[in-house]
Amino acid sequence: MIYSSLLSGIPWLRHGFGTRLDSIAQEEMASLRQIHSAIVLPACRAGVVGEGDALVTAVAGVPVSVRTADCYPILLADLNHQAVASVHAGWRGTAAQIVIAVLRAMEECFGTQSADVMAAIGPGIGWCCYEVGVEVARQFGMPQAGCIDLAAANRNQLIAAGVPDSNIEITGGCTRCDARQFHSFRRDKERAGRMISFIAVTKPF
Ligand SMILES: [Zn+2]
Repeated sequence: MIYSSLLSGIPWLRHGFGTRLDSIAQEEMASLRQIHSAIVLPACRAGVVGEGDALVTAVAGVPVSVRTADCYPILLADLNHQAVASVHAGWRGTAAQIVIAVLRAMEECFGTQSADVMAAIGPGIGWCCYEVGVEVARQFGMPQAGCIDLAAANRNQLIAAGVPDSNIEITGGCTRCDARQFHSFRRDKERAGRMISFIAVTKPF
């Protein structure tokens, strides 16, 4: 499991970015049928909430989770309202600015202000390995095919939406380079497994 040092310092939550070495029981968590969208859903209980790519909750004891293998798992926490979010961001979700949709949903649901948000961007396919064709590259402001940095793109969107730079952590780790720790769809194709990342407001004692 990989932990964010930023999120680890928050006493009322627990979180983790699962690797291929971890077995995590996602049935006990809220989850999604992921469709590479920018759809954000609220979660009140464990189980499959619906179709979308981000979950938000302020309910204690309900972990929100996403599955990834190259796409980026992103975990958010609102320090002021004790609310959390889990995000699945591949190139489609990133191009659709899913993290901005999540901040908007958190504001509507909990009154979240971006300045109070901590964000951890977990392991995904690195710039080193993520070469894309011209159609995808254009969505990221590039004129021709090349390598895109999805972690940086999501970080920039968070900053543009008002999350302080010092509240954002990129854990690092390229899923395609590091076969020991990570599943990678690009590397392993249909044989690729999925890694589970989660964040939860802990139950009050
Ligand atoms: Zn790489």
